[in-house]
Amino acid sequence: MCKYGEIALKGLNKSHFESTLSKEIKGRISRYGSFTVTRAQSTIYVVPNDDGINSEAVFSELCKIFGIATVCRAARTEKDMDNIISTLKEYIPRFLESKKTFKATAKRADKRFPLTSPEIAAAAGRAVLECIPNIKVSLENPDVTVTVEVREKYAFVHADASKAAGGMPVGSAGRAMLLLSGGIDSPVAGYMMAKRGAKIEAVHFESFPYTSEAAKEKVLELARIMSDYCGPIRVNCVSVTEIQERLRNTVDEEYFTLLLRRCMMRISARIARSRYCDALVTGESLGQVASQTMLAMGVTDPAAGMLVFRPCIGLDKEEIIETARKINTFETSVLPYEDCCTIFTPRHPKTRPELSKVLEQESRADLSELEDRAFEMADAVIMKMYGD
Ligand code: ATP
Ligand code: MG
Repeated sequence: MCKYGEIALKGLNKSHFESTLSKEIKGRISRYGSFTVTRAQSTIYVVPNDDGINSEAVFSELCKIFGIATVCRAARTEKDMDNIISTLKEYIPRFLESKKTFKATAKRADKRFPLTSPEIAAAAGRAVLECIPNIKVSLENPDVTVTVEVREKYAFVHADASKAAGGMPVGSAGRAMLLLSGGIDSPVAGYMMAKRGAKIEAVHFESFPYTSEAAKEKVLELARIMSDYCGPIRVNCVSVTEIQERLRNTVDEEYFTLLLRRCMMRISARIARSRYCDALVTGESLGQVASQTMLAMGVTDPAAGMLVFRPCIGLDKEEIIETARKINTFETSVLPYEDCCTIFTPRHPKTRPELSKVLEQESRADLSELEDRAFEMADAVIMKMYGD
């Protein structure tokens, strides 16, 4: 049983969110076998069509799908107390091994059911005490909660309700183009946008031979890891070698990074439009480096000409790392490969740039033809989980 969080609060377009979520669920679990996916009462039921599916793997996959607030593996039974109790006695003990304390709860969505919720819970509690020796009741802080839910057609019993990924179903909030470097921050930024329902695509800038094949492989691997939560990610790879060389040869050193970043914004926005994305996403965090001061972002933003999201903007590095660890990107992000932003870096980058001076420098570099070429030469790889 997959229960939704925020979607349940949606009004008229709730069914749009629900069908996006059902579709996502079906796509994500198909590699584990055949399932029937139905929905009722703010819950999506995922019923395996055969025995012998790897329920542990399906369960952990479901826990990573945005839009689902809680997941539990439940046994379904007819709606009378005899059946409920015998199903509970047969199904629940496997979840109570090595547990010392439990609590029984009940939810009665069908108000015509003859017993009240406290009465059902009491009966469930007695049944657990009868079949598990030495287990004790703890209402305050139980090791496990055994739940009986009496719903419209059937009753369900479960004992492993887990907090899932939360957020909104991927794709329900449009498409966004993530500027994906090999660092810690941008994968986290992509994850945060996907969590709110954005379908993520990525653009990665490389600068071969200054950046290596290994650096690019690392970025593709990050996209693959992210796809665990975000779904398959198309990574558009763009070479900025010529642009960087041109900048190095024509502009004052202190403007180099800012101008490169403006150029990355322009090319990313072009790719975004060509891929039907309505916004860019970066991993910038206020004050983290010279190019991430308010004034520096103020001169790079206008180059995008489209909405730019910076979901990490108010996070400390420690907080970003915490999320990177949770989504498994951290270990890959810290592999020591160069990024195009770390070559030719100025000794004294401008932290308080003025737009007029930046534009004057930019005109010296005369980048438009090089940018056209970089855009046209971009190639793309789709990254997804192994086995998908
Ligand atoms: P990150 O940890 O995400 O690399 P950072 O703190 O190292 O971020 P910068 O290198 O200044 O910061 O980059 C800021 C943002 O610019 C990144 O979060 C990313 O969105 C984008 N970016 C940087 N380098 C690249 C690149 N090579 N390709 C695509 N986007 C990039
Ligand atoms: Mg970086």
